[in-house]
Amino acid sequence: MKYLTLGSTGLTVSELGFGCIPIIRFPKEDSVRVLRHAFERGITFYDTANAYRDSEEKIGIAFSGMRDKVVLATKTLMRSAQDATAHLDNSLRMLKTDYLDLYQLHQIAQEQDWLQVTGPGGALEAVLKAKAAGKIRHIGVTSHNLQMAIKMARSGLFETIQFPFNLIEEGAKDQLLAASTELGMGFICMKPFGGGVIDNAAVAFKYLRSYPDVIPIPGFESIRQVEEILSFYAGENLVTERDREMMEEYRAKLGRRFCRRCEYCQPCPQGVMITPAMGYPIVAARMSPSVAVEFCRKAMESVSLCTECGACIQHCPYELPVTEILKANYSLYEQHLKDKHAATD
Ligand code: SF4
Ligand code: SF4
Repeated sequence: MKYLTLGSTGLTVSELGFGCIPIIRFPKEDSVRVLRHAFERGITFYDTANAYRDSEEKIGIAFSGMRDKVVLATKTLMRSAQDATAHLDNSLRMLKTDYLDLYQLHQIAQEQDWLQVTGPGGALEAVLKAKAAGKIRHIGVTSHNLQMAIKMARSGLFETIQFPFNLIEEGAKDQLLAASTELGMGFICMKPFGGGVIDNAAVAFKYLRSYPDVIPIPGFESIRQVEEILSFYAGENLVTERDREMMEEYRAKLGRRFCRRCEYCQPCPQGVMITPAMGYPIVAARMSPSVAVEFCRKAMESVSLCTECGACIQHCPYELPVTEILKANYSLYEQHLKDKHAATD
């Protein structure tokens, strides 16, 4: 494991971080075991959020009594100073610490978010105050919107930027990475697997390792997964011609119109299970159509509840034509159902 300086923060972090969404799915003891194992294997950088349910609490338990050995980053979706202060204090309590190494304003995507957090009484005011009081060491920002991310990087207000970056989402490669490098910002890479659609971890990490200043934060679900991903960091593990071909195959297969399962579009007011229904073609390709129709039945049948109100489209940071994709996926599901019935008749 190599250790890098996270931009101009001066924080020393492992070249691979730990994204703490998946640990919300497991009991405390199991999550703590995975977190501690990752630490023992050299991972020192842990990224979470107030919104990730009990993730902060689990991290607080895992690293109690060894605060100076880990770098802790968390974030808030709050836009006002008052709400951000409440979130920040809660994070400190849950993480059992009196300071955060990095505090990020989370998911600033639209101009309205930006104006709220930076305006009078906005979250940035609270965060700056907390920094002056020693509760926060460094301030960062996260986004899924490239133009907004570039603007925020260039604002000079933040020391790190967190953005999706992987072999099929290369939007950050040129302008955003260039801006963050030029300005001495740390670049934290969320979604190294494209939100779950890149199922070849070796290829995903070989791609990312060709950007040595980028710190990926995969979500680990088990000790086995920690070991698997760490194995890609042993030795040089260079990209081969075959790896390049596989990357191209992923790009050709997924294009731009794929759902990253970020769930910002949820909940649907009509009860449509948007995220699983958006991913139906991937499940069908992985499991076979005849299994997928059963596995996804509930989600796919919920698509018929859609009234095309457009709320999900407004909330999708990737500007996906959600209703159009849902309709296309539903047609595919119907076709698969027909094929299945024909095969069994
Ligand atoms: S457009 Fe359909 S799926 Fe999207 S939020 Fe409205 S009802 Fe739900
Ligand atoms: S449709 Fe958009 S907002 Fe909803 S989960 Fe997919 S990428 Fe996220």
